[in-house]
Amino acid sequence: MTVSASIPTAKSRVLIAGATGFIGQFVAKASLDAGRPTYVLVRPGLAGCPSKSRVLKSLHDKGAIILHGLITDRENTEKILKDHKIDIVISAVGGANVLDQVALVEAIKAVGTVKRFLPSEFGHDVVRANPVEPGLQMYKDKRVIRRLIEEYRIPYSYICCNSIASWPYYDNKHPADVLPPLDHFKIYGDGTVKAYFVAGNDIGKFTMKIVDDVRAINKSVHFRPSSNFYDMNELASLWEKKIGRTLPRVTVTEEDLLAIAAENNIPESIVASFTHDIFIKGCQSNFSINGPDDVEVGTLYPDEAFRTLDECFDDFALELKDNNKDLGSNGNATPNHVVESLALSAPCA
Ligand code: NDP
Repeated sequence: MTVSASIPTAKSRVLIAGATGFIGQFVAKASLDAGRPTYVLVRPGLAGCPSKSRVLKSLHDKGAIILHGLITDRENTEKILKDHKIDIVISAVGGANVLDQVALVEAIKAVGTVKRFLPSEFGHDVVRANPVEPGLQMYKDKRVIRRLIEEYRIPYSYICCNSIASWPYYDNKHPADVLPPLDHFKIYGDGTVKAYFVAGNDIGKFTMKIVDDVRAINKSVHFRPSSNFYDMNELASLWEKKIGRTLPRVTVTEEDLLAIAAENNIPESIVASFTHDIFIKGCQSNFSINGPDDVEVGTLYPDEAFRTLDECFDDFALELKDNNKDLGSNGNATPNHVVESLALSAPCA
């Protein structure tokens, strides 16, 4: 029997926690673009953070309904779910707040009317991947949330969207905010282990298709666009093509990554442990997704194209040009550590 996707009902009411965050912004925007009534749950105290206030204003201008509260406040969340007849709950809280979702899951269970819950995953399949510490602890926390959801029989989809389309800096949890390198490439290991890269807008777009697709109920939904399956060497060549010159390549060994992870500086050491898992161990592709609990997003929506990594790198090149940075061939480009440090010290981080 062929099961076809449900046609998204514009009436499904969506509540998003973490909409001011890096991933949450893409999801909230896609929800609004899809014409869904979109409620965003915002922590009090954003007034002191201009960048987040701007995000919130832009979501509000697009039609989002702003609600204030914490997901740890079970009573308030229950009231929100009931008062606004929420059908779909999406959480995109950050890695440090994964266990805050326990109260959210309890609230969803108590209300009993939520048709789908997407917990904060948006990365690897946390049951299959096994990074070293300190990254492992985040996966253990995400596994706790999965177990609770399944124990309570809450309908769910786990978004395993792999890497965000960008240069995968080993010390930056939001690398898409930063241009690829302009002085030299750091290549992990021999640079031949491949990973899947997905544009942020596509993470949002496909997430919002999945939320009421019956084929994705109680599944891990894997994002594996074949057009965006690159290793570090290929990624470096792609960027060299965009900037019109070659850059030196420096090897970051497995031992280097493990040593940075062992320093336990948060969040850099967590990112180093994931980088090791991706580009040394191959955690994104070293398993098949044919199991009954898995589905691949490309098989669900074969006619929907992903933005290619080539196009995403075009955007970075354009940004570079707009910023009047050196795109020439004289090798005097701005060192990338400048942009890296800017990203790492982003306000309100
Ligand atoms: P961010 O840290 O950027 O944002 C977290 C958001 O959650 C913020 O809006 C924050 O609110 C909100 N939040 C945190 N705690 C609470 C709470 N108790 N109640 C209500 N809101 C809360 O998160 P990321 O986007 O980095 O991470 C989201 C998910 O995506 C994580 O699971 C992470 O592992 C994954 N990820 C995946 C990446 C990839 O490449 N695939 C890259 C980065 C993350 P406030 O604005 O008040 O701080």
